[in-house]
Amino acid sequence: LTIPHFDKFRTNLENGYNKVKLDVNNEYSWGEVATYIPPLAKADPLWFATGFCSTDGQFCQFGDTSKVFSIQSIGKVVAYSFIHNIMGEDVHNFVGKEPSGVAFNAPVFDKQGKPHNPMVNTGAIMVCSLIVHQGKNIQDLLEFYKRASDQEVIEVDEELYLEEKLTGYTNHALTNLMLANNVFPKKANPQETKAFSDESLDLYFKNCSVLVNTQSLAKFGAMLANNGINPSTGDRILRPNTVKSVVTLMTSCGMYDGAGSFIKDLGVPSKSGVSGGLLSVIPGLGAFSTWSPPLNKEGNTVRGIQLIHELSAIYNNFNLFHR
Ligand code: GLN
Repeated sequence: LTIPHFDKFRTNLENGYNKVKLDVNNEYSWGEVATYIPPLAKADPLWFATGFCSTDGQFCQFGDTSKVFSIQSIGKVVAYSFIHNIMGEDVHNFVGKEPSGVAFNAPVFDKQGKPHNPMVNTGAIMVCSLIVHQGKNIQDLLEFYKRASDQEVIEVDEELYLEEKLTGYTNHALTNLMLANNVFPKKANPQETKAFSDESLDLYFKNCSVLVNTQSLAKFGAMLANNGINPSTGDRILRPNTVKSVVTLMTSCGMYDGAGSFIKDLGVPSKSGVSGGLLSVIPGLGAFSTWSPPLNKEGNTVRGIQLIHELSAIYNNFNLFHR
């Protein structure tokens, strides 16, 4: 067993969860629910759930686990995993591997005019364009996520998707800047180029609006922690090289402009999303999912971060760089 005394582990996670939940006066309670996407503004700041799945499929979860939430930027991990598994390192002819050091939706590019990495909005829109270029669509991404996380039904929140498409002005602007930089895969003429970029951005919005819960996210993460094999089904989902690329870029870029201090403090590859989700992968051990809408100034869930702090204080082998 990866975690020999899972009952003890479960108790520790439950205690950590309760401690963070009741701790309303610490720095982690200063966060704010995102409001720039109208449906997300309706979130209750007290919603809080967490799950853990080990690389041999031992699973537990606590809190508001029956609620679904939109995957948002954690979908960047799903999309990048999917396309890297098909294209390998050729993905990086179109998107870089460097942290951007600025906000997730900043209109900045590397020296070649390309997105800095697949974990920020520009990079994920580019990844979506590569998925479209391969003739794939949201159904293929949903099927991939289902197989990877052992779920029967995974759906897009259509209302949220339409709202993001309508009001996601920054993402429309980022797409236009990438058109201006001439960095999308080449098409025959300007009409096709425009249609292609529209379809790519559309896929990005749909991919942000996929509804998940702590169970499916923890299981997706456990597949990554298990070097690409789904622990529950034994299916190989990703090639080891893809897993390495995904987990490494989560480490350096997954927490946006908070990535440096997060990895220095905790050493746990993680990816956050603006609805308050957090996926934390501990290679060889398993993965945590947490969800709590209030965000810090970098756009990362405050309770999610605190919970990883709590568990890391108990288990000193969570830090990849200090075991
Ligand atoms: N849909 C969000 C956006 O594009 C995703 C960003 C995030 O989760 N940080 O702005």
